[in-house]
Amino acid sequence: MKEIFNNIKNTCEKHNAQLVAVSKKQPIKGLKDLYQWGQRDFGENKVQDLIQRKKDMPKDIRWHMIGHLQRNKVKYIADFIHLIHSVDSLNLLEKIDKEAKRVGRIIPCLLQVKIAEEISKYGFKPTEISKILYQTPSMENIHIKGLMGMGTQTHNPEKTTAEFRSLHKLFTQVRYPNYTSQPLNILSMGMSHDYKIALAEGANLIRVGRLLFEENTKPNT
Ligand SMILES: *Cc1c(COP(=O)(O)O)cnc(C)c1O
Repeated sequence: MKEIFNNIKNTCEKHNAQLVAVSKKQPIKGLKDLYQWGQRDFGENKVQDLIQRKKDMPKDIRWHMIGHLQRNKVKYIADFIHLIHSVDSLNLLEKIDKEAKRVGRIIPCLLQVKIAEEISKYGFKPTEISKILYQTPSMENIHIKGLMGMGTQTHNPEKTTAEFRSLHKLFTQVRYPNYTSQPLNILSMGMSHDYKIALAEGANLIRVGRLLFEENTKPNT
């Protein structure tokens, strides 16, 4: 496990990318090992798991919300969440803004974009993104830092490449909004099975779960 972690870390460093360890459904031992080896960014896809894990793990971890977030649950994570990757509606954005105000924070968010037809129930259409960005400056307690996407679950690397390439293209098109001096600087794409393609296509944050926690995978995968 340590060898795989180090391999992925090195690959990330070569690409100036950040690694979020997706710890959903993993036993706590694995998280503690990763923490010991220096990992500080962890991602969960459920609010209740974020809250539990935060209790169980050291205080200096940066917690990432990567799963679909219900509006009525924003209040439980508003005071600590480091980055919400999965913003998929304007309603949700407004709710996050409100809860962030309540706790006196500016909450960093990514807009989730649908790039794969079949698996992604959630996310904005690529054509909606610039409009959403245009509407967010009025929300003072939100900081949109970039885009997030999930590729199709496929073993066809060409399909994955095309999807990630299209998201990177959108990212370059919208990253300098004309109403603010703060460019979008995070492109979150790539998981265990496709993170290498994601990095090659311009991801600067990858979200890796299973691969990091596997005991018996050979290095170089
Ligand atoms: C589970 C999950 C990941 C990590 O997937 P693995 O295949 O375990 O690497 C990344 N992003 C999101 C949104 C997820 O739900």
